[in-house]
Amino acid sequence: MGGYLMQKHRALPAYVPGEHAEDDSFIRLNTNESPYPPSPSVAAAVAREVGQLSYYNDPDCTALRAALAGLYGVQPENVAVGNGSDELLAFAFYAFADADHPIALPDITYGYYDLFAAVYGIPLRRIPLKDDFTVDVDAFCGAGCMIVLTNPNAPTGYAISVDQIERIVRSNPQSVVLVDEAYIDFGAESCLPLIGKYDNLLIVRTYSKSRSMAGARIGYCFGCADLIAQLEVIRNALNLYSVSRMAQAAGEAAVAENDYYMDNCRRIMDTRRMTTDALREMGFEVLESLGNFIFARCPQMAGAQLAAALRQRGILVRRWDAPRISEYLRITIGTREQMETMLEAISAILV
Ligand code: PMP
Repeated sequence: MGGYLMQKHRALPAYVPGEHAEDDSFIRLNTNESPYPPSPSVAAAVAREVGQLSYYNDPDCTALRAALAGLYGVQPENVAVGNGSDELLAFAFYAFADADHPIALPDITYGYYDLFAAVYGIPLRRIPLKDDFTVDVDAFCGAGCMIVLTNPNAPTGYAISVDQIERIVRSNPQSVVLVDEAYIDFGAESCLPLIGKYDNLLIVRTYSKSRSMAGARIGYCFGCADLIAQLEVIRNALNLYSVSRMAQAAGEAAVAENDYYMDNCRRIMDTRRMTTDALREMGFEVLESLGNFIFARCPQMAGAQLAAALRQRGILVRRWDAPRISEYLRITIGTREQMETMLEAISAILV
């Protein structure tokens, strides 16, 4: 690589995303996308905005923030919107931590946090999940630094309760507790009611999973008005126009059709139940997930080998060469038909 990159960035690890398959030749169960399309009015809303593309988009995302505030029973000042939740997470890391203010997080969680911390020079305090992969809540209480928790966690799918989150938030008043609720619509309980009570709680969410719009790049977050204003200082300085006209309109249209998305979530939860039971029947260890994915280990075959065999049969799943989890596959819940195809493929591989 050329020599212009600042020395401090040269050792940055590369984020390794799930394999990107652009065509339909694969069943994509590796990036936790929704198998269902966006609701009908989204396409029309996007098309309308195309005619306005010569004009800048609203930097304040006024209509989308108002729509989200209405849907979730908060005020627009409690909401910020970003270009995918990854952007909001990156802004939050930059806003609320630095080289002298570390972040505590579980050792097994969403991998992009490592990159945000690395690029900003934020030290990470990794608090191991317990042996059963549950979050060590007591270890986070009174941590005395910013805390980042995915709830439900990825890739385990295990959630902690609102009471447990409240204990962590209450015991850590001098630092922000960021709860990433990317997968909250698949059965776990949101800690949203707590934002009225605590000024250090930031909840980050995404349209990429339950709202079928990973490619639109829409993230949003909730917090008390003052915390959101603090986050906006960084958003304002770095990328004020990051949520395109099309994304804002798509996001607003989706709020108006919320029932469609919640129906899809129920379908995914039913399919998760069916898939979990079927894999357990085949002898797999499957964690009881509250996400749109399951985390499963095959007793008869190494994880890497099984993932490769599934890929050969046109099915992509995700796995990591990481301590404690290298034998597990994270399998996104697709349609019932896709999961039946996957189960048949696994049966054929294991005979
Ligand atoms: N948080 C978690 C826990 C995730 O799994 C993901 C998606 N991989 C994200 C955030 C990022 O989502 P987005 O598409 O909104 O950037």
